[in-house]
Amino acid sequence: MKNRGWLHTPLRTRFIMSMSVMLLPLVVLTIGGVFSLQSAIHALDNVVQESTEEIARVLRIQILVQRATVAVHDYLITGHGDLGERERFRQTSQGADKAFEEAVTGHFALAAERALILSAQAEWKRARGIAEGILTISNPGGKATAVRAIERLDAHIERALDRLDQIHSLAQGEMTQQLALAHAVRRQALIIIATVFALGLGSAILVGMALARSILLPLRALEEAAARFGAGDLSHRVPLATRDELGQLGRMFNAMAEKLASSQAALEDLSIHDGLTGLYNYREFHRRLAEEAERSRRYGRPFSLLMVDIDHFKTVNDTCGHLAGDEALRWLAALIRREVRPVDQVARYGGDEFAIILPETPGPGALAVADRMRDIIAAHSIAVSPEETVNVTVSMGVATFPEDGESEEKLIGAADRALYTAKQAGRNQVRRWGKA
Ligand code: GH3
Ligand code: MG
Repeated sequence: MKNRGWLHTPLRTRFIMSMSVMLLPLVVLTIGGVFSLQSAIHALDNVVQESTEEIARVLRIQILVQRATVAVHDYLITGHGDLGERERFRQTSQGADKAFEEAVTGHFALAAERALILSAQAEWKRARGIAEGILTISNPGGKATAVRAIERLDAHIERALDRLDQIHSLAQGEMTQQLALAHAVRRQALIIIATVFALGLGSAILVGMALARSILLPLRALEEAAARFGAGDLSHRVPLATRDELGQLGRMFNAMAEKLASSQAALEDLSIHDGLTGLYNYREFHRRLAEEAERSRRYGRPFSLLMVDIDHFKTVNDTCGHLAGDEALRWLAALIRREVRPVDQVARYGGDEFAIILPETPGPGALAVADRMRDIIAAHSIAVSPEETVNVTVSMGVATFPEDGESEEKLIGAADRALYTAKQAGRNQVRRWGKA
């Protein structure tokens, strides 16, 4: 993941952000859909309402005009001029006048419709004038003037009705046009909904994947770390540097591993070293001796073992105290460590006894080392306290592998016996087993 900031964001915030991004298109979709559909429905409502009103108005005028015309025709057909027809004409023509007035002052969607209604009204007015003239003729039946007048009346009426019919067609046309518009709006709304849905789906997939990646990868790292720790590899660390909860978990994991590793190292150190002198302990001495014997057997190279025991050490304890004795032991350990080679291995074998493994060292060489060390020890005074010093000597037994013993036990036995001989010979001595 390239965006490191995203990985540093707490998981809680990451979840909330992801959910918001996923939900946003749905909210937009809902609002957009509602608005689009509402405007489409509104447009459709307007069209239907306006056109219906227009058609109804025009239809009413047509009916009234026709009724008025029928009244005039009836007046003529009866032949002698029925007064009832005049009254019928008066009423219907007044109705038609009023309907025309209302229509003219009312709302029309198109200017052409208004022009047509005005034209129809003009034709109607002319026709009404002619009709009123006919209705004044007494006994109109068969009179030539009445026949001509009725022909002119019909012509005007026909034109008026024709204009009104044209309004019908215009209203119809407009309704069709508006319906097409409403369909377009609906189509648009559907396109918007589909687009937003696709975007929403896409962003949901992307966000979902990013979220899953940002959690699953660190989890895998933690899982692997746990498995490696379980297998005993305390040097492994979780490679997580993010500042989120998982990064925190990783750091805690690493800190724990660090602590465990150092505790284990400390324990290992304790388990192989002697607490007083810091030299290898008895157990570690045996392990290293076995290792050295094995190496010697494999490469056919000899090595030697020195057993060192302080002479009359009990007396030091008895006269100077145990703490002074401890100090003498520490001092002696440090001296021995300093006087041998780095490859030589020094261990505290027992109370006042040390064992030294000298790899690649045959008997004479080992004797020389032992003698030099014995001399140095004998020559030094040990400051066991600020006021007090003691002098100690050591006795040493030397044994060489495999010459003096072909197994570790035999080699230790040989060195021990040589040490015993040195003690017997008066102490502050070095002896090799079997040699003078
Ligand atoms: P020898 O010349 O025969 O070896 O005489 P020694 O007095 O040294 O006798 P031995 O080696 O048998 O006795 C070892 C003494 O070392 C016994 C004990 O008082 C002392 N000692 C053993 N471990 C410690 C220790 O950790 N601290 C102190 N201060 N003394 C110890
Ligand atoms: Mg001793």
